[in-house]
Amino acid sequence: MDQITIRNVRVFVTAPRNINLVVVKVETSEPELYGYGCATFTWRYKAVVTAIEEYLAPMLKGWPVDDIEDLWQTMMGSSYWRNGPVLNNAISGVDEALWDIKGKQARMPLYSLLGGKCRAGIPVYRHADGRCVEEVEECIRRYMEEGYRYIRCHMGTYGGNFDGTRQTMVKPQGAPQGAYFHPRMYMDSVYQLFDHIRREIGWDIEIMHDVHERLSLSETLEFARELQQYRLFFLEDSLDPQHGEFFKVLRAQTSVPLAMGELFTNPAEWMPLVQNRWIDFIRVHLSDIGGLTPARKLAHFCEAYGVRTAWHGPSDLSPVGMAVQMHLDLNSHNFGIQEFSGFTEQEEAVFPGCPQVRDGYAYVNDRPGTGVDFDEAEAAKFPPVEPDSAWLFPRLPDGTPVRP
Ligand code: MG
Repeated sequence: MDQITIRNVRVFVTAPRNINLVVVKVETSEPELYGYGCATFTWRYKAVVTAIEEYLAPMLKGWPVDDIEDLWQTMMGSSYWRNGPVLNNAISGVDEALWDIKGKQARMPLYSLLGGKCRAGIPVYRHADGRCVEEVEECIRRYMEEGYRYIRCHMGTYGGNFDGTRQTMVKPQGAPQGAYFHPRMYMDSVYQLFDHIRREIGWDIEIMHDVHERLSLSETLEFARELQQYRLFFLEDSLDPQHGEFFKVLRAQTSVPLAMGELFTNPAEWMPLVQNRWIDFIRVHLSDIGGLTPARKLAHFCEAYGVRTAWHGPSDLSPVGMAVQMHLDLNSHNFGIQEFSGFTEQEEAVFPGCPQVRDGYAYVNDRPGTGVDFDEAEAAKFPPVEPDSAWLFPRLPDGTPVRP
């Protein structure tokens, strides 16, 4: 039997939800055999496109599709310097497309290829937000009516998004523009929010909160202590990823379950947190670590240490990428929860075969591979957009730029 080889690697950028998504198509020497992968790094998508078109595509032409492990290691090593989000996303696009192809060759859905299911449905959580506690409550109740039982609760987006008009946030003269936030105001507003939620909605839902790495260790210690009474499902990304050792202190002082990792791009970042059992949930963004090949290894690594998975599932992840991690969710015994941002009608039209959610559980279809296709003509109706990136420029009250 002739070896099936990579004929071409193509990249598409489409924005059916006004968010730029990067989709990679690997075409093979068999005219009808191809696969799709997610390479969405929405804030630097042109750099990812260049990395694929200028470097990976020419290198991969003619290589056999079969040995995904070999191809992943070769792509990772081929730039010498590695593990950054641009190159990891480029590799992910190809990697996930190769898994899609392997599933189609085997005539198996990806979860089956990975070893089969160990759960019937995938519990997902949604993100609730609003400008005041009443708006957040309304948003939570809407999700509950749709059948969701896990909800991440926020007020005024990340960091509270206080606009500086309140008397308590006085900005200095000449303070530059930015998404100003005040750690004390933010923390106090979250205490009020969670108190309101438990009082008005009760204890039948699981709630979580995402700090977006905006608090210091001492602030996080107070934050976790105050929130402990509201029985969180987890507290997410409460500390800066470069201060992983701080989790040792946090772990020792709180019983609030800790989730961490959506900004991780390098195994050196997550290994100590997992090995020391300083966190309860790992939540990397699959394409930011290089796709399914490293993610399944990470899932197994976490299983050995009793850490559960909670993969990052924002709207700047294509339905192809969402499907890939849901196949992994079905197979991973140490699955914890899946973040889900819903799909718009336009996304479902561009990506036929999107996973479906009923009563708070997600289901993939049983077609071979990821089960998600890509309608190129439909995608072309949604060209790249100039995204609103204001939230990427947060500042402290005195004007200091901080990370989002
Ligand atoms: Mg997050």
